[in-house]
Amino acid sequence: MTAVQALAEHIAEYNDLLNTMNILRWDMRTKMPPGGANTRGMQLATLTRHAKRHFVSDKTAKLLDAAESETALVDADPYAARAIAQTRAAYELQKRIPAALVGKLAELGPASEAAWASAKAASDFATFQPYLEQMLALNIQLADAIGFSDQPFDALVQQFEPGMTAARLGALFGELRAGLLTLLARITAKDEPLPRDLWAQEYALGAQRQLCHEFAALIGFDYARGRLDSAPHPFEVSFTREDVRITTRYDLHYLPMSLFAALHEAGHGLYEQNVSPRLTRSALTTDFIGQYAVGGTSYGAHEFSSRLWENQIGRSREFWALHFGRLRRAFPAQLKGIDAALFHRAVNRARPSLIRVEADEVTYNLHIMLRAEIEMALLDQSLAVADLPEAWNAKMQDYLDLTPPDDARGALQDVHWSAGTFANFPCYTIGNLMAAQVFAAAHTAMPDLPNSLARGEYGELRDWLTREIYQHGRAYSSDELLTRISGESLSTAPLLRYLESKYSALYGLN
Ligand code: ZN
Repeated sequence: MTAVQALAEHIAEYNDLLNTMNILRWDMRTKMPPGGANTRGMQLATLTRHAKRHFVSDKTAKLLDAAESETALVDADPYAARAIAQTRAAYELQKRIPAALVGKLAELGPASEAAWASAKAASDFATFQPYLEQMLALNIQLADAIGFSDQPFDALVQQFEPGMTAARLGALFGELRAGLLTLLARITAKDEPLPRDLWAQEYALGAQRQLCHEFAALIGFDYARGRLDSAPHPFEVSFTREDVRITTRYDLHYLPMSLFAALHEAGHGLYEQNVSPRLTRSALTTDFIGQYAVGGTSYGAHEFSSRLWENQIGRSREFWALHFGRLRRAFPAQLKGIDAALFHRAVNRARPSLIRVEADEVTYNLHIMLRAEIEMALLDQSLAVADLPEAWNAKMQDYLDLTPPDDARGALQDVHWSAGTFANFPCYTIGNLMAAQVFAAAHTAMPDLPNSLARGEYGELRDWLTREIYQHGRAYSSDELLTRISGESLSTAPLLRYLESKYSALYGLN
C-alpha cells in the first residue's frame, strides 16, 4: 500500500465517525422523542472526542508527512495533491484549538440555547445576556487560538468560508447595500397589497407533502439515494452521495413555507448527490482524502446551490407558469380564481420586515449584513453584549426603516449565537451572490437555457452544474470555481442585475 492510500484509509475512518454523528443528528432533528435529548448529547460528545483524537493524532501527522513526500503518485492524480494540502491545513487548524476549549463550548451549548429559547419566548434579553457573554468570550478565545492578523472575525470565518475576511466582506457589503437600498426604495414606492390574501385558507398537510415530494423530484432530487422528511428547522445532511437526507416544514396556512424549504433543501441535496463517485467513501480512491466531510467546498458554496434552485428557479415566473396547475389540482377550492401570475407575485412581494427567515430576495441580504456587522463588533469588543439590542434596533432603522417592537422580533430572533456559532451569517449572502453569478455564467455557456427552463427541463442546468461545480466536491475553492466559470471571483454585480431585472418586471419599475 502506498503512503497516500494509507492516509486515505485513516481519513476514511474519520469520515465514518463524522457520518455516524450525522446519522445521530438527523435522527435527533426528525424522529427522536424529547426524552432522548440528554443521552443523545452524551453520545455526540463521546463521538466528537473520538473523532478529534483520531484526526489530531501523531498517526495523522506521520501519514501526512509520508504522503506529502510521495509526489510521483500525487502528480498522476488531479485531486490528490489538493486533497493532501487541504488535509494538512485542516490538521494544523484543528491542532491549534485546545480540546478543553472545544469541551467548554460543547458544554455551554445546551444551557445557552435553552436560555435563549426562554428569553425569546418572554422577549427578555437580560436573562440571555450572561450566557451570550460567556459564549462570546469562548469564541474570542477560539479566534485567538486559530490566529488572525486583522480581526478576530477573520479567524472564525475560516471554519465556514476559507479565504474570506471581514475587510473583503465589508467591500462586498458596501456595494450590495447601496444597490439594494436604491432598488428597495423604488419597489416600496410601488408596493400595494395583493387583491386577495392567499394564506388565509387552510392547505391540507397531506397534499402539501405530496407537492413537496414532486417539486424536489422535478429539479432532479433522486429518491433512490435520498429521503424527504419533516423537521421543525429544515436542513440537509448526507452520509454519502448515495444517502442524502432533506427535510421541510409545514404550515397549515402559509403554503410557501413547505414548498420553498423543500426546493431549498433539495438544492443542497443536488450538490451532495452529484459529487463524483470517485470522491466517496465507497470508492476509497486517493481522491477521497480531502472529502471526509463530503459535499460542497464551503458553507457559502453549498448555499449557492440551495438558493439557485429555490430562488432563480423556484421563484421564477417560468416555474409557476408551468407548475401552478399542480397546486390548483391539489387545492381547487383554496386557489379558485387565482392564476400563476398572481401566485408568482404573492411569493415574491418585497417589503421591509422584521424577521430574517421570512424576508424576500431584496431585503434578505440587509438582514445578513446587520448580523455580520454586529458579530464583527462583538468579537473585536467594540460593542458590549449589553448594548446589542440597541445596536440591532439602530441598524434595523437605518437599513429597513423599522424598529422591532420587542427583542423577540429583534436581537433574540436567531439561534446561531446562543449555539456558539459566530461568523457564519455571511455565508447566506455569499450563497446568494454566488447563485446569481453561477446562474448568469450558465446562461452565457448555454444560450438555449431559458427555453429549456421554460419547458421545465432542468437536466441541462443540473448537468452543467455537476460538470462545473458539484462533481468536484471540496477539491476547488469557491473563488476558483467562480473564476473558472465566470472569469472573476465573488462579485455583487450579477445579483444586483438579477434583482433589478426580476423586480422591474414584477413591479413595473423604470
Ligand atoms: Zn441552506
